[in-house]
Amino acid sequence: MALMSRRRMLGAAGAALAAAVPVVLGQQKSGGAGSGKTPISLIIDDGGPVDAMFYMHPGYETPWIVPNAFTERVAATFERFDLHGKLTVLPMPSCLGRIDKSLERVPQEHLEGFLKIIRERIAPRFDITPEFLTHLAAYDLKSGKYQHIFEDAWISRAPLEEVIDYFVLAFQILKNVGLPAQGITSPWNSGIDVEKKYAQALAEAHWKVYGKKLTWYFLYVSEWDQPRRCTVEYTVPERGQAVVSVPANAPDIFWCMELPTQSEKVELIHRNIDRLVPADGRPGRIRQLIEGGYPVVLLTHWQSLYHRGTGLGLEGLTALAERIQKVFGDSLRWVPLREIARTALPAGGGPGPDHG
Ligand SMILES: [Zn+2]
Repeated sequence: MALMSRRRMLGAAGAALAAAVPVVLGQQKSGGAGSGKTPISLIIDDGGPVDAMFYMHPGYETPWIVPNAFTERVAATFERFDLHGKLTVLPMPSCLGRIDKSLERVPQEHLEGFLKIIRERIAPRFDITPEFLTHLAAYDLKSGKYQHIFEDAWISRAPLEEVIDYFVLAFQILKNVGLPAQGITSPWNSGIDVEKKYAQALAEAHWKVYGKKLTWYFLYVSEWDQPRRCTVEYTVPERGQAVVSVPANAPDIFWCMELPTQSEKVELIHRNIDRLVPADGRPGRIRQLIEGGYPVVLLTHWQSLYHRGTGLGLEGLTALAERIQKVFGDSLRWVPLREIARTALPAGGGPGPDHG
């Protein structure tokens, strides 16, 4: 996801669909396997060796190649606080080429260095997903060219078979660079108007490339509103496969690049951290989610952490992780997002141990 204003614009559609979702199987109180701890997970969208905002928002000023020293700092922050979650790695970032081959205007050494950090330091704790292929113009599988249509508009009208092939390519590219994907992420609100086709295409593509019984997608964000639950959106009973929709239950609290001054940005980030987890013991969003049995899934974006090369969002993440540690101590357990998805499955009836 990215482009918050666009997501808000489509929010009404999401709310209407939410009301129609029939299956709610999961409540999460414990971290599974009798740990007694509540699972918490962090979603990071739009990841890649370049800042996707550069092409997504023409005129956006940023050092558009994200230095690998920054990616190392992100990895070190995850390790320091034992954070887990999900990170997007775009298979064809900003229509520059394929990450398993080469990218236009990106030194090969940079690309390979980025992928090495992701493989060795981030993938052990963060599930990796594609976010379709480009997070920009749709790729034409037949001609190998980019189309005059963004991926969110493309999926609305593409036939099921084409969507399956598109997702297969996304999964295959990640597999080729040693990053097996556990699920998929929607760029913007892609698929919100054709969710059944989306879920079915995901089931077929994920099965073709990985043959795993559990897969999931990230499409919905409740922001500060009524939290959402994980829902099973598609099943293939003959192979025991389930597709789960996993929501984020908070907005990207580090997204502040539209604000004009540094002090306003810092103030917003601190206000947001206070709303999630107040320092003074008052209940905040995280407490509300825990007590309601909702998935404790937080959200940010690669470009929020990077923040035009300043790392402002990453500093915010450090402050948030410290606050969570201080307030919740050992009662929370950071988990990769697949463990949150798994809570939607009926107890004992879910897919087997092949998705560790
Ligand atoms: Zn995105």
